Amino acid sequence: MEGEFEVVKKYIMTPGPTPISEEVLLEHARPLMHHRSPEFSKIFIEVTEKLKKLFKTKNDVFILTSSGTGAMEAAVTNFFSTGDKVLVASVGNFGERFKKISSRFNLEVISLDYEWGDSANPEDIKKVLVDNPDIKGVMVQFSETSTGAINDIKAIGNIVKNYPAILIVDAISGLGASDLRTDEWNLDVVAGGSQKALSAPTGVAFISISDKAWKLNEKSNLPRFYFDLAAAKNYSQKTPPQTPWTPGISIIVAMNRAIDMLFEEGLEKVFERHRILALATQKAVEKMGLQLLVKDESKRGFSVTSIIVPDGIDAKELTKTMRVKYGVTIAGGQGKLSGKIIRIGHLGYFGMFDSIIVISALEMTLKELGYKFEVGSGITEAERIFMENNYLND
Ligand SMILES: *Cc1c(COP(=O)(O)O)cnc(C)c1O
Repeated sequence: MEGEFEVVKKYIMTPGPTPISEEVLLEHARPLMHHRSPEFSKIFIEVTEKLKKLFKTKNDVFILTSSGTGAMEAAVTNFFSTGDKVLVASVGNFGERFKKISSRFNLEVISLDYEWGDSANPEDIKKVLVDNPDIKGVMVQFSETSTGAINDIKAIGNIVKNYPAILIVDAISGLGASDLRTDEWNLDVVAGGSQKALSAPTGVAFISISDKAWKLNEKSNLPRFYFDLAAAKNYSQKTPPQTPWTPGISIIVAMNRAIDMLFEEGLEKVFERHRILALATQKAVEKMGLQLLVKDESKRGFSVTSIIVPDGIDAKELTKTMRVKYGVTIAGGQGKLSGKIIRIGHLGYFGMFDSIIVISALEMTLKELGYKFEVGSGITEAERIFMENNYLND
């Protein structure tokens, strides 16, 4: 295993970017359209409408040309003023990112920090809001991709709606994998990205904005230019609707097909598929004697599984062997979990045999690295769960 390119067939099994279907890749490869042409306009309007359906919202949804972090930055810079107090409920590396962006733009950050692998407790958020009625915004992840935990956004929305603060949800890896209801759950700002559960090319983010958030936007003085959502709104009201700057045209064209595929499968079935993929992956690695980072089953999301690297195994060697020898790319830990966990993404254009591939590669790699377990125990368990859940037959 000297060279890096011995394996011909390769698999991306990370929690973003995710595998892209041939259908979406073909759309991505269409000849470039001009972004002010009627041809693109039609697609742009369609994608925006479809995103609203995916977000389950009547609010404005804007497409930004950036990775997901751009939408997080837009969520921070468009609604507050210098020195405003915001609450970040942080359960992992992406919660930390909200803190960093907020501090960089001179907001006063109050943070609720949870152990990585845990979820935010909505009652804690309520307590902080009661004690600090001047908080202008609450920021939280839906699916925390660095740990695999999911937050109870419905319960948090039910609390924050009673306060002046707006609720900002980073749903970048959760949207399209787990049910999220922007309007029903009172979510003021929701951020999503093209390269996670949508399984579209990387480089486009989206953001929804409620009336409550627009009111704050009018008074907000933080510096912004590229991510000025009032400019996005202004251009969206032109005939035909447009973006202020040149968008990721080909990505948006590809997204049109990617979102259609979710609706053709049916959103409920999409979420059920993700639930079963997560369950199979989690039960399989537990059968192999491995420990999951998220101990409480009810706090595990459907997008990604974080596994604690067993004693005596080097995390970097594990991921490298999987990638170089077996062609399977998974992710390592982020931030303080670097070297301590590995993460398997099972979201987007992902089916049960993809799970079998990644579990099989993990088994062969662990065996080679000297971990003691019964080879085949993981895939056997995954197969059992797929058969039990009638996955194929409905
Ligand atoms: C992927 C992701 C992001 C954004 O990361 P980018 O690399 O900027 O796309 C933000 N939050 C969560 C929860 C994510 O999974």
